[in-house]
Amino acid sequence: MTGMIVMKFGGTSVGKPERMRTIAGLLQQTPGRKIVVLSALSGTTNALVRLGDALVANKPQDAAKEIEALEDHYRKFTDDLYVIDAFKAIGQEIISRYFSLFRLLSAGSPGSYQHDDRTYRELLAQGELMSTELFYHHLQEIKVPARLLPALHFMSIDENQEPELDKISSRISPLLDTMQSVDILITQGYICRNHLNEIDNLKRGGSDYTASLIGAAIRASEVQIWTDIDGMHNNDPRVVNKTIPIAALTFDEASELAYFGAKILHPSTIVPAQKYGVPVLLKNTMDEAALGTLISDKSSSSVGVKAIAAKDGITAVRIRSSRMLLAYGFLRKVFEVFEKFKTPIDMITTSEIAVSVTIDDAKNLPGILEELKTMGTIETDSNQTIVCIVGNRLAEDKDVLSKVFTALKTVPVRMVSFGGSPNNISVLIETKWKEKTLQLLNEGLFNL
Ligand code: ADP
Ligand code: ASP
Ligand code: MG
Repeated sequence: MTGMIVMKFGGTSVGKPERMRTIAGLLQQTPGRKIVVLSALSGTTNALVRLGDALVANKPQDAAKEIEALEDHYRKFTDDLYVIDAFKAIGQEIISRYFSLFRLLSAGSPGSYQHDDRTYRELLAQGELMSTELFYHHLQEIKVPARLLPALHFMSIDENQEPELDKISSRISPLLDTMQSVDILITQGYICRNHLNEIDNLKRGGSDYTASLIGAAIRASEVQIWTDIDGMHNNDPRVVNKTIPIAALTFDEASELAYFGAKILHPSTIVPAQKYGVPVLLKNTMDEAALGTLISDKSSSSVGVKAIAAKDGITAVRIRSSRMLLAYGFLRKVFEVFEKFKTPIDMITTSEIAVSVTIDDAKNLPGILEELKTMGTIETDSNQTIVCIVGNRLAEDKDVLSKVFTALKTVPVRMVSFGGSPNNISVLIETKWKEKTLQLLNEGLFNL
């Protein structure tokens, strides 16, 4: 362990000048050396996606409007953030530099942009580059020693878009050694380089993942994720009326919640931290006194349900075949098709004559279906949602299944999965039933 901590601040936590000031205060109060991971200011990545989409759609006027609106926002932000004239001037220079780049990138040959091309990804990366540069100069202005640690110098993914933890670790250590005397090291969340050394990213919400990857790479003593809510809640606060924060979760529980849609964490956040046992603390930038949620390897003592999350955009595929009866090797053949198309399966249920699976990436569905057709009759349902009920040693909770089924007696359920892990019950429903399902489970399982 390096004894360092990683502190990640999300979009809303850096989205206003006064929030940046709050963060500066927090960093000064926090003893020891820390790596500070920043997201782009809230709304920026969405605006950059819209800009990129306008370029892909060959709509230069829409692109110009996006750039103008964003530039206006950043000019005001900068003017408010800095107090001293010299820093106001530096701020305006920074903004001019980025917006010239946006105009340059937009001026490429019309119609030549694609969603996955380099220019598009380079555009998306600018949000985090801007926020870190602006924040770094804020610290300079208030005379707090800090350094920028460019993520593009150490954060990388391989050809399967998997982060290269060992390489990240061996690149970041010497960088940290060159900055021994500095306590605050600021880096960009979300952005990285790919196997071609091009600028890429860790997918939307990826700054959490950056923080955890750095935490694992430097064997940090803690990763703190500072956001706009007081920790992981028992249910989705955007959908359900009354939700409450959870004080502690195991890595496994938090992993399931993040993977199955709890937006407070990028789906893969917990994986690297868990690998090296680095605790993850979720905290509220707007309410520092709130305890938040501690995610660690301490297994929770109480048996039972802790939280519910939901993941949309799911497609269910049912393969029906009488050849399954008493046959072995059938499931292997089915799974091989999904493996061939690099498409992960989330839920599985089987009967003697049929198997249902769910996928969240339907990009290769046509190819998958073509091959599955040779094995039996196929039915697919899109617009599905997985609702995932997470807790500790659920099988030991005698009432849990009856409570779930009683709560959901008015909801048509397409699939149920229980027993795969000791801490998860998943149900698949049509997305139009999501709100009702989450609300009913909140009442039935938490009396909220
Ligand atoms: P940041 O910009 O800091 O990364 P996000 O918007 O990505 O913040 O994540 C925080 C948001 O996640 C919260 O404001 C909340 O609306 C949403 N959220 C969804 N599910 C949960 C949950 N179970 N617990 C807490 N927040 C959740
Ligand atoms: N700025 C990126 C996004 O909005 C990454 C992040 O905020 O975590 O997706
Ligand atoms: Mg986020």
